[in-house]
Amino acid sequence: MAVRNGTEFIEGLRRNPREVWIAGRRIDDVTSDPVFRRPVAALAHLYDLQCAPEHRATMTHQEDGEVFGTSFLMPRTPADLLKRRQSMTIWANASFGLLGRSPDFLNTVLMAWAENADFFGQRGARFADNVRNYYKFCRTHDLFATHAIVNPQTDRSRSSHQHDDQFAHLGVVEETKEGLIVRGAKMLATHGPTADEILVYPQPGIREGDERYVLAFGIPASSKGLRFICREPFDDGTQSVFDHPLGARFEEPDAVCVFDDVLVPWDRVFLYGDVKMGNALFGQASIRNNTGHQTAVRGLAKCSLLVGIAVTLTRTVKSDTFLHVQEQLGECLSYLPLIEAAIVLAEQKAEPTGRGSIRPAYAPLQALRYQLPRWYERMVHVTQVLAAGGLLISPTEADLRSPAGPDIARYYRGAGVDAEERIRIFKLAWDATGTQFGQRMLHYERYYAGDPVRVGASYYNDYDVAPLLAMVKRALAGK
Ligand SMILES: Cc1cc2nc3c(=O)[nH]c(=O)nc-3n(C[C@H](O)[C@H](O)[C@H](O)COP(=O)(O)OP(=O)(O)OC[C@H]3O[C@@H](n4cnc5c(N)ncnc54)[C@H](O)[C@@H]3O)c2cc1C
Repeated sequence: MAVRNGTEFIEGLRRNPREVWIAGRRIDDVTSDPVFRRPVAALAHLYDLQCAPEHRATMTHQEDGEVFGTSFLMPRTPADLLKRRQSMTIWANASFGLLGRSPDFLNTVLMAWAENADFFGQRGARFADNVRNYYKFCRTHDLFATHAIVNPQTDRSRSSHQHDDQFAHLGVVEETKEGLIVRGAKMLATHGPTADEILVYPQPGIREGDERYVLAFGIPASSKGLRFICREPFDDGTQSVFDHPLGARFEEPDAVCVFDDVLVPWDRVFLYGDVKMGNALFGQASIRNNTGHQTAVRGLAKCSLLVGIAVTLTRTVKSDTFLHVQEQLGECLSYLPLIEAAIVLAEQKAEPTGRGSIRPAYAPLQALRYQLPRWYERMVHVTQVLAAGGLLISPTEADLRSPAGPDIARYYRGAGVDAEERIRIFKLAWDATGTQFGQRMLHYERYYAGDPVRVGASYYNDYDVAPLLAMVKRALAGK
């Protein structure tokens, strides 16, 4: 059971109905609903890959005589970090980096928490035990977790306790013998409806008075009182793969999680009621070092696809013969080795955690977290500008097979490329950049790792500038 395949993943979702609201409908079984069937299949494919004979050695590891997914691996050596990267790369390439919430994203968080269990133990040894046990539980059952860690955008000028509605943000209603009863909402759980477990944990920026809202826990997506309200789906499950080559395969549902007096059992509570710890969690539990490793690997796959599309489409109409087009393609290509370099540097400069394991260096990965969304945005822009009107003339698959077919075959050709091939290439470009799916892909990069303004500012605040200031002093002193 410790390494599941796709069928076992789907069975797990089916066995645990949850309350999901989408486009005015309530559904419990996401595995049989047309809207969710493709997102579930895309995730199931990842689970199949880790069981495939050619990937098993990379995608699994042994610990205490048992076999687990590499996505849960606690890296102790540089070889472990490399293995983790290789494993992440297999999953990232399977979806061209378009699945932001592949299971390795949150599995690294669980691993980092377990590794830093003493942080949680500051409030009592049982919280450290809870974190360790939860990690082991998810690892043993190879569960898929996602997270909802952002308060709803009700009034950003007020902290949680300053809202008229006491439960505008997720907070504790009462402590019982069994656990905490929580009420309120959190956004934005990508793949929330299709996950096994939902994690909630605090982000920095919490103020005194917000104690009841400082919460870290993990509960099943099927928990009583937990409901998912999904954004409007882009694909109702019937989109043609010809017309939407990416959107018809890789849409990720996004949802607000509503907690209607949900019981969080005590053994699932990791942190509660401590503003200082809530603000310190991200920094002290190596979360960013580890998720940054995964997101950089995934980002590299996604950027590679986009640049590949830009190069292909210009070659299709031979616009790559012009100098300014080459320059823009060169700019986009230049981002790829920079991303790879940051990943390798973070591994090379991996730091001991002081608890027997190592973590990738923070600075190169956090630099990527800030820069990659900008580069990605630039790649989207360049792709659209270079494709120009070609992006908005593509007929549908049905048109190709209609009486208009001969005209299409004649007038939609590229340079040495037949009409159907040319249309497919430009549809791919539009789906990657312009459709609802493509725009979500862009917006995902902008925001999945938090507000870019605060990411940039924290880079300044966290950076060790002492060596730079010493250089300036030396220059001023004329040495
Ligand atoms: C496609 C997509 C998928 C996502 N998936 C997930 C997920 O799976 N799980 C999850 O938990 N989250 C997810 N997120 C949410 C993401 O974490 C947030 O969007 C991000 O943290 C920014 O928060 P916000 O959207 O509430 O923006 P806000 O914090 O409301 O910011 C909006 C704007 O106001 C400014 N602003 C607001 N408040 C402040 C402040 N206090 N100080 C300075 N500036 C401020 C910001 O600079 C920004 O420009 C996802 C987001 C997207 C777009």
